[in-house]
Amino acid sequence: MPRHAQGTELVLQALRFAAERHRDHRRKGDIAAPYINHPIAVAEQLAAAGLAGDAEMLAAAVLHDVIEDAEVSQAELERQFGGRVAAIVAEVTDDPDLMERQRKRLVEETIGGKSEAARLVKLSDLIANVTDIVAHPPHWSRERTLHYIAWAERVVRAMRGVHPALERLFAERAAQAREAHPPTRP
Ligand code: ZN
Repeated sequence: MPRHAQGTELVLQALRFAAERHRDHRRKGDIAAPYINHPIAVAEQLAAAGLAGDAEMLAAAVLHDVIEDAEVSQAELERQFGGRVAAIVAEVTDDPDLMERQRKRLVEETIGGKSEAARLVKLSDLIANVTDIVAHPPHWSRERTLHYIAWAERVVRAMRGVHPALERLFAERAAQAREAHPPTRP
């Protein structure tokens, strides 16, 4: 069994790895921020919510999009960061063979049965995404934006109880994102 870094060292290694693999990616949004800002925000929110003690979960938060968006395999994550980190990232990775709509439905249907760490990473991911809708709006239609918010709310409902304070933060940010897109007047 290879030995893996632990604690802060593990999280920092994950940050370096994610920064390298996402180096050519940008966030969709008005300022096209470097992609790595997003996984950093996801991990930071978990730490701020009192969850910094689980370094493997924070590392998984930092790495949560590398399988989906940077063509990294679960096996590579396992070699570099160990089985649990790789498993959490795999749990929050969508099936690339499905169409967008099916992928989203599958997330809703399966999130309740995932590990606690995977649910927490997903919850923080959704908070970061609805926050970005207000802070750095993606170039989405109003309809697409409202669709996304409603979907994210259903996913969070499906994991109710996993972390009440983070769920409240999500509800607040989702409400702000919706208020930023008022219904068009007739
Ligand atoms: Zn994400």
